[in-house]
Amino acid sequence: MLLCAQRSDTFLMATCPRCKGHLTDTHRCPRRRVRVAVEIIASALVGGFVGLLLVAVFDPRGQITDVDTISVIGGALIAVGINRALRG
Ligand SMILES: [Zn+2]
Repeated sequence: MLLCAQRSDTFLMATCPRCKGHLTDTHRCPRRRVRVAVEIIASALVGGFVGLLLVAVFDPRGQITDVDTISVIGGALIAVGINRALRG
């Protein structure tokens, strides 16, 4: 009896037109993977650029060598980390 009621409840429950998930009061559509990926790539690019800019600011004559790659990777990772922390 109880099982039966639960089943019909689930069956009758409205589904979200966008994600087809059950429309509960707390329903939130899961974020699309493509959009998440684009967001991560965008923040990585911005972070890498900021890393390069910081190196250019602190080392305008390019006296420190081999820092470009590290700064780009570091900036990208930090930017992605911040993005994930804020969005998560
Ligand atoms: Zn939804």
